[in-house]
Amino acid sequence: MSAIDTLPPLSEVIKRHQLSARKSLGQNFLLDLNLTARIARVAGDLSDTDVLEVGPGPGGLTRGLLAEGARKVLAVEKDARCLPALAEIAEAYPGRLEFIEGDALEVDAAAHLTPPYAICANLPYNVGTELLVRWLTPKVWPPAWRSLTLMFQKEVAERIVAEPGSKAYGRLALLAQWRCDARIALTLPPGAFTPPPKVSSAVVHLTALPAPRFEADAKVLERVVAAAFNQRRKMLRAALKGLSPQIEDHLAVAGIAPTERAERVPLEQFCALARSLAAV
Ligand code: SAM
Repeated sequence: MSAIDTLPPLSEVIKRHQLSARKSLGQNFLLDLNLTARIARVAGDLSDTDVLEVGPGPGGLTRGLLAEGARKVLAVEKDARCLPALAEIAEAYPGRLEFIEGDALEVDAAAHLTPPYAICANLPYNVGTELLVRWLTPKVWPPAWRSLTLMFQKEVAERIVAEPGSKAYGRLALLAQWRCDARIALTLPPGAFTPPPKVSSAVVHLTALPAPRFEADAKVLERVVAAAFNQRRKMLRAALKGLSPQIEDHLAVAGIAPTERAERVPLEQFCALARSLAAV
């Protein structure tokens, strides 16, 4: 019998520990262990990898990660009510699950993990995008993590993988795709969760590239992209006017028409523009 079989069903765990879902903590639980194992498999072979899981809740995805062979899981959970359920899982997988009660936005999880580690989470929606942006903007690249396997609202997932020319294309797509390969691995209907959220969800898998796809200074690129998409309907010569009095020259160097709009400009050209602006 494998360790996962010695643990009670998640519905029973939730009842026994009175884990009624709290909206304020973004609690929409996954109770189907086949599904959580599938999500864990999206992260790839974890047998030589530590995993950071944010918001394990009653531990459905935690069980999936451990059953799929993760070397070690560090789970950070804000809701103290979930800790006894996590302790039961830790007992079934001796030495492989460590959990911390705390806010993932504040805990220094990296101190507990051997890099390059994987990050895997059914994220609380209220903090998901903020955590993603932090993970994508470390001080040095490559980062301490090698991949991110993250559940988002489908609309947010689509913004991460969006291509130029689509409505979803913007800062999140450029930030993610500059230094990562990003794809949607799974889409899930509201009914996959207990309680069901209002909208569909999707699992995004991001793999860190060894170096950015195109050369650019991170801060300059961020400034260009922010200015371009803050006024996404404006022509770029107007939207970017504040960045340089010679903005039309810089656009020309980057091969971008001054009348172009941000949502049609590919990453490569934004990087060329950032390089031209940084060279002044
Ligand atoms: N991973 C579990 C699952 O798949 O069933 C629960 C997912 S639920 C969408 C989000 C979880 O994140 C909840 O357990 C919630 O308590 C926890 N959470 C919310 N905000 C958090 C934060 N700032 N730091 C850590 N955990 C948080």
